[in-house]
Amino acid sequence: MNEKGLFENEVLSLLKSAKQKDTSYDKVLSSMCTKPHPIAVKAHMQFIYSNMGDSGLFPGTKYLEEEVIRMMGDMLGDSSACGYLTTGGTEANIQALRTARNIKNKSNPNMVVPASAHFSFDKIADLLGIELRKASMDREFRVDINSVGNLIDKNTIALVGIAGSTEFGQIDPIDKLAKLAMSNDLFLHIDAAFGGFVIPYLDKKYDFDFSVNGVTSITSDPHKMGLSTIPAGGLLFKDEACLLPLEIDTPYLTIRKQYSLAGTRSGAAVAATYAVMKHLGHDGYRHIVKNCIKMTDMLVKGTRKLGVRPLIDPVMNIVALDVPNLDDVRKKMRTKGWTTSVTRNPGAMRLIIMPHLDEKIIDLFISDLELCL
Ligand SMILES: *Cc1c(COP(=O)(O)O)cnc(C)c1O
Repeated sequence: MNEKGLFENEVLSLLKSAKQKDTSYDKVLSSMCTKPHPIAVKAHMQFIYSNMGDSGLFPGTKYLEEEVIRMMGDMLGDSSACGYLTTGGTEANIQALRTARNIKNKSNPNMVVPASAHFSFDKIADLLGIELRKASMDREFRVDINSVGNLIDKNTIALVGIAGSTEFGQIDPIDKLAKLAMSNDLFLHIDAAFGGFVIPYLDKKYDFDFSVNGVTSITSDPHKMGLSTIPAGGLLFKDEACLLPLEIDTPYLTIRKQYSLAGTRSGAAVAATYAVMKHLGHDGYRHIVKNCIKMTDMLVKGTRKLGVRPLIDPVMNIVALDVPNLDDVRKKMRTKGWTTSVTRNPGAMRLIIMPHLDEKIIDLFISDLELCL
């Protein structure tokens, strides 16, 4: 740090030059985050000093969080679900499995997750000392139920189902996982970090949430398709008793107990999430999802004409394209300003069609892809 402080305009110009190096979302097809809704940004700025880690000082913001959890519960099949807003899907997944581990209290616990699970489960295995067992996928990249069944033993504490897998946007057969979980007395955590704000608004109906008997917890991230600001994740439990193993006494705060993993945490993201959910309503989100699906269909139709097929027909606004000479094509696309990503197994071009894109950009992407192939 410099000895003497800089003038404000000097600092601002440093910030400006850093920001210029950042990628604007315009040609980003690799991100599950997007430009937040303007009302979320306004709310965020208003609550910038609010700390949910010491929520006794901020009962107004605490009320907003309770309202968000109620609205999210309502979206996810149980308006009386409980939980809190996390820093993201990773924290929500960690906390869900931490509850499962502490309630089950087994000596060498293991969890069975789909091979398509997000890398946050590798962190969980390491942090919580839970052995990670990866079940194989079927040809459509859903978890194979027989494989899950075969991996369960007396030390299994939880199964994980994914509703909107990070790489393929696929939805596991949650009803079948729920039957397995119930007959083996296991927790069933649903990772809908991405799909939570998408699946309820698809034309096709999927049973993936608390409406399925046996689902114990759900992760759903407002900072992805919820159009809130970062950091806004969500963890919901069906049963309030699930919060108890997470509780810690907090002697020097205005509240007695805290169940979040983070201590100090953003009230701004809470207010942003409340604002955008109140403002959009189910209708608004349905409209946004519809538009993303329309663009996704356009993209797939256009690339099929180039002889490039998706690995599966997209279930939501995530596409894995079977592009020949993948690395080479992605590099060429990068020089034209496009950011794409990849799936692991099999390797394909992974594209996420977020609300910051529009039909003109999709057309441009297809024609640039044609040039790069
Ligand atoms: C994005 C994502 C996560 C991780 O969420 P973060 O907010 O990045 O921590 C976990 N699971 C799935 C399925 C995701 O798509």
